[in-house]
Parts: sequence; structure tokens; C-alpha cells
Amino acid sequence: MKIVVIGSSNTDMIIRVPRIPRPGETILGGKFFSAAGGKGANQAVAAARAGGEVTFIASIGRDSMGDQALQGFQQDGIDTSCVYRDEAEPSGAALIFVDEEGENSIGVAGGANMSLSPEKIRACGRVIESADILVMQLETPLPAIQAAADLAHAKQVPIILNPAPARPLPDELLGKITILTPNESEAELLTGVAVTGFESARKAAGVLRERGVENVVITMGARGAFFASRDMEAMIPGFRVSAVDTTAAGDVFNGTLSVALAEGQPLEAAVGFANAAAALSVTRLGAQPSVPRRAEIEKMLRGR
Ligand code: ADP
Repeated sequence: MKIVVIGSSNTDMIIRVPRIPRPGETILGGKFFSAAGGKGANQAVAAARAGGEVTFIASIGRDSMGDQALQGFQQDGIDTSCVYRDEAEPSGAALIFVDEEGENSIGVAGGANMSLSPEKIRACGRVIESADILVMQLETPLPAIQAAADLAHAKQVPIILNPAPARPLPDELLGKITILTPNESEAELLTGVAVTGFESARKAAGVLRERGVENVVITMGARGAFFASRDMEAMIPGFRVSAVDTTAAGDVFNGTLSVALAEGQPLEAAVGFANAAAALSVTRLGAQPSVPRRAEIEKMLRGR
């Protein structure tokens, strides 16, 4: 199953502090750890660990963070021949403070991610055109996403677009999307409908389908996910777990959803598979370190 993921790669640098420092303030007593992150990279790793044959298209810096990221992708068996090295800009980085209540404050420097251009996408056009499914998010510049959507759409390659972080999108792009996967707040930004439960999710999905999206999946945290296709609407319940860190839950959901769909599972079953994988990821700290493997996902599904 050939899965192509296009998107960001960041190094997350996290400090757990007693409380988040105010401007000008220094707080001692923190605990530091760093982990590979970035929405695109998280989704690529999730797809690979769930059993997909993954090519990741991205732009990273020629620096030690970039080297480490690349090494991580290769350890997960991801094809990195379309991971560009930007000679001028540093790799993407996120600086994250987390306090004792789990509240966070995050600054992101996109760096090399920002140079992922339509030209770079077209240079990997063959890879996109021969994919079983294409997966993208919005943490890299929109022109490249549009270029990739054009290439995939022309060859009938299904496209999953995870519209995160939220931003308004042109109908021209939405009309090429096979499955749009907003969370509740992203769905609200795109439709103006406040998504709080089944009825409002239905309404928001209706607006998106009117605008040209074929299928809509709205992730709803611990509650699971709602989906709407041409002939079916349903809420697929989440798995009960004790949450430790919900970072990357949405990314794991999208990466594993793509694998299930590429394998030919119907949307309803694929959403269940993605719910199981995402639930496992919230029981662990960090982005990529928390991504589960296929065997664990299947065990979780059998235990239901
Ligand atoms: P995002 O992380 O993008 O904000 P959500 O919070 O909707 O997205 O989470 C994505 C998916 O992760 C959900 O659809 C669900 O499958 C799973 N998930 C998230 N939080 C929990 C939780 N506390 N318990 C179980 N599953 C969860």
C-alpha cells in the first residue's frame, strides 16, 4: 500500500515547568525533553508503523536536527528520497512550555518547512501520481498543497486533507479532497457551525460536502469521530484510555486512517482503526515516541 505524506517536520523542545513563565520572567526547576514532531512527520510515522509503505515529501534544514529527523524516518522504514535539505534555513522547531496542569504555551519556527514549494512537489510528481493515497495537512505553505492536490486529482489518487492548523480554504481545493478531517474547532472555523455533538457535526459536514468535499470525518477527542459520506453518517465511538498527553492524537488518527483506507477497509471500519491507534497515542508522552505499531492497534481493536 503506497502512501505519500506531504508536510512539516519539526523538533519539539519541551520544558515541563511548575508554571508557564510570564514575559521577562525566568523559572527554574524545569524538566527538559525533546522529541521528533511536526504534523507531516507525525502522520508519516503513524502510517509507517501501522503497516504502510510510506514516502514522505518535506523540507528540513542541513543541521543536526534535520539529520536526526531523517535518521528517525529511516528507522521507521520511510522512503526519504523526497525529503529536501534546505541549505539556508534551519529545520523547523517548536519550543513548548507545559505546566503542572498540562496547560501549554508554544512557539513554532517553520524554518525549512516554509520552502516546500510547488516546484519541489512537482519534482516528486511521479511518486504522488502512483500513490494509493495522498495525505496532507496545513503546516506547510498552501501553494505546494494545491500543486500536490492537482497532481493527485488528475490521476484519481484519493486525497486526505487534515485542515490543521486551521485556516480558510478555497472551494477549488476542497473540491479535490476525498476525505477532509478537521477536529471540532477546525470544522467550526471552516463552516461557522460550532461542533458540539452529533447534530452539529452533521450540519458542519453538510456545509463542507456542499462546498465539494466528498467525505468528511470530524474528530471529537475522547468521544471518537463522526463521519459523513454520500450514503452514510455515523458517530464512531472512541476508546476509553487514561490520557497522559494528547499531542499528535489527530496526527496518529490521520496517518493510520490512510493505511486502513489504502488497504480497502470501508470508511466506517477505517475510522474505528484510527480511533484505536489515536487512543493508544494519548496514553504516552511526546509526538513520534507515542505513535503505536500495527500489532498494538490490532490488539486494542480485538479488546473492544
Ligand atoms: P486533535 O488532536 O487534532 O485536536 P482530537 O482531539 O479530536 O484531534 O483527537 C483525534 C482523535 O484522537 C480522536 O478522534 C480520538 O480517536 C483520539 N483521542 C483524542 N483524545 C482522546 C482521549 N482522551 N481518549 C481516547 N481517544 C482520544
